[in-house]
Amino acid sequence: MSFDERIIIAGPCCAESYEQLYTVAEGLSTYFNGNKFYMRMGVWKPRTRPNSFEGYGLEALKWAEELKKHFNVSIVTEVATSKHIEDCLKHGIDEFWVGARSSSSPFVVQEIADALKGVEMRVWVKNPLSPDLSLWLGAIERLEESGKLKVGAIHRGFSLYNSYPYRNMPLWEVPIKLKCNYPHIPILCDPSHIAGNTELIPSLCQTAMDLEMDGLMVEVHPQPKVALSDSVQQLTINEFKLLLQQLVLRNKDANSGEIFARLEVLRSQLDKTDIDLISILKKRLQIVEDIGKIKKNDNLSILQSKRWQEVLHSRALDAEKTGLDPEFIRTLFSIIHTEAVKIQTKILNKGEI
Ligand code: PEP
Ligand code: MN
Repeated sequence: MSFDERIIIAGPCCAESYEQLYTVAEGLSTYFNGNKFYMRMGVWKPRTRPNSFEGYGLEALKWAEELKKHFNVSIVTEVATSKHIEDCLKHGIDEFWVGARSSSSPFVVQEIADALKGVEMRVWVKNPLSPDLSLWLGAIERLEESGKLKVGAIHRGFSLYNSYPYRNMPLWEVPIKLKCNYPHIPILCDPSHIAGNTELIPSLCQTAMDLEMDGLMVEVHPQPKVALSDSVQQLTINEFKLLLQQLVLRNKDANSGEIFARLEVLRSQLDKTDIDLISILKKRLQIVEDIGKIKKNDNLSILQSKRWQEVLHSRALDAEKTGLDPEFIRTLFSIIHTEAVKIQTKILNKGEI
């Protein structure tokens, strides 16, 4: 698979001057050999705290319009109100994105959807701030229902209290679920807002490509250090070019019958192993049931925290001896333990199983 099949949107967090936009467009145009490319730019910035730089608004739209006369570029920007949409359409903006703060609010999304009724263009919906797949889907559906829009999704991570080492936690399982259940919706990854720094961007992009995401939206600035917003996470034009060169793009399907056959053999071994795993889990939970009955008869508490700590510790050690990641085994056993507690709670409190 090549970049021809992926959508790459690059550009500054925020449009800061015509010269800034021109420099980025020139760099991207050279890289993409004069072919059409997509450039992002914030025109109105949704800042977390008041009195921060909030974008140049209408002035920036005029810069964008001028830029389109010189380059084969599609301009992508964030809209949050019907007035934004009206102004952008007047100035020939090609595609919109709905930001994470806006996609968290059905009122805001509905206003955007109503303002776009009958308009034919593509709108990208960033995931809401919290890892709520229904809220994300709901925003996508509101826009799809408005008639003629092509709607895509952007994964930009989730704002959790502690997202270290990321600015926003990737929680890849959420976009994976979106992709598996709604394959018609293209998904881009925005590594800049997930990472919050430049160091983590390459590995995030590689993960996104390995998960068959449809493309990337990356913040690129001629001089990130002096950027008026998100200065620590923007790549220089050269860093961005290097990033694309270093990404490994893999094939969706096996490209020969022989490789396909080898995969099939291994996959049938996996299927059989999973059946064994399920029956072993069933056996383990039956023992949990027997223990539950003894606890009920002897009026013993369900959680024996000392014993549970010992189990967790020894399973992690056993895992390490076999070369498995002890953290993975701790997580797995925590899930199994939650199920065990649920089963014993039923036995002790409701007398049922
Ligand atoms: C942005 O892309 O500039 C932005 C504000 O992103 P998000 O809505 O993901 O925070
Ligand atoms: Mn930004």
